[in-house]
Amino acid sequence: AALLTGAPVPPPARHLFSDPAEIEALRGALLAWYDQRKRDLPWRTLAATEPDADRRGYAVWVSEIMLQQTQVSTVIDYYNRWMQKWPTLQALAEASLEEVNELWAGLGYYSRGKRLQEAARKVMSELAGQMPRTAEDLQKLLPGVGRYTAGAIASISFGQATGVVDGNVIRVLCRLRCIGADSSSPAVIDRLWDMANALVDRSRPGDFNQAMMELGATVCTPKAPLCGECPVKQHCQARRRKLFGKPTPVPDVEDCGVGGCALCPPATEPWDSSLGVTNFPRKAAKKQPRVERTATCVLERRGCHGALEYLIVQRPSSGLLAGLWEFPSFPLAEDLQEKKQKEVLADHLQACMGWPVVAGSLRLIGEVVHIFSHIHQTYVVYSLPLDGDVTLDPALSPSRWVTEEEFHASAVSTAMKKV
Ligand code: SF4
Repeated sequence: AALLTGAPVPPPARHLFSDPAEIEALRGALLAWYDQRKRDLPWRTLAATEPDADRRGYAVWVSEIMLQQTQVSTVIDYYNRWMQKWPTLQALAEASLEEVNELWAGLGYYSRGKRLQEAARKVMSELAGQMPRTAEDLQKLLPGVGRYTAGAIASISFGQATGVVDGNVIRVLCRLRCIGADSSSPAVIDRLWDMANALVDRSRPGDFNQAMMELGATVCTPKAPLCGECPVKQHCQARRRKLFGKPTPVPDVEDCGVGGCALCPPATEPWDSSLGVTNFPRKAAKKQPRVERTATCVLERRGCHGALEYLIVQRPSSGLLAGLWEFPSFPLAEDLQEKKQKEVLADHLQACMGWPVVAGSLRLIGEVVHIFSHIHQTYVVYSLPLDGDVTLDPALSPSRWVTEEEFHASAVSTAMKKV
């Protein structure tokens, strides 16, 4: 009938959760496992014990932003320091960007901290200090809050029965339902959101969502899933396929019994029995990161108290590592010999600091590689000792002299700490 009316053909049953009894059983098994195994994390404690809804929402929001692209073990310490310093939206709204950057230093993806603070200011000034209570409003009203973060805040802090889809959930759902089409494609992502919304437990949505993510992080891991210990293994189509599947190669038309299924692995890359459940999920190949080289100069002098001091300058307020401090750095062309590099660096230093710099006085220290999400960056590090009474032209970009201790307490990136 669907073919005759032109309506979209629903995906085959193995890609869906259509049996209410199975959904109920899966929720129960997952929540029981979560109650026993969940990790104690500071934001979970706050979400469970904080009586004030706005404070609860804020506590979950901060954790979700920090956890984007960063591991739980790294986040805990930053989270505790953040919540101690700014326990409420109001406190964060009153902080300076410099303070936010200082606390965020080392956590990476620095615009997250800045956006969080801008959003806190917006809640205070435009929403009378009240967090929006639903996923739809959170996403609509708060800058930097996307569909996932909105769903997480609304379900965990406010008990809204709304699902979430992050990398862990994508992996679990694709395995549970043998979804082998490109999991980053909008069509598959939409399906996964529908599935997450249908599955989420109506009475404990926040716990259910956290349980799905916890399962992905600790059991249904990317490379070596522990299927034997999995609380939802009875509901897992990938495991069933691994245990009882047909021998390879299996043409994709047999995957569903329907040709051209939009959720099965593509015909060109059918199920590979040597991969087992890790056949799922699948992603289109990632773009290679851009390769860049940067000359970085550590200028040092003896400060008035005899301690060594280093010059740091502030980056522009937009773009990569916006507003952070760094040793003066300049882009380098590929394949420059050391002599030429020194000349280029000396010219740059001279132009922006306003002092004559002799290329021969620069000393090559070594190279530091740092991988940003989309850039493979090599810093070629030089040092240049200066006379103690050097002063800087205040008309130039913001700069200051810092001791080693002050450097580490400043808003500097992990890359600069490596340098
Ligand atoms: Fe993941 Fe294995 Fe559990 Fe399936 S059975 S959800 S593949 S851990």
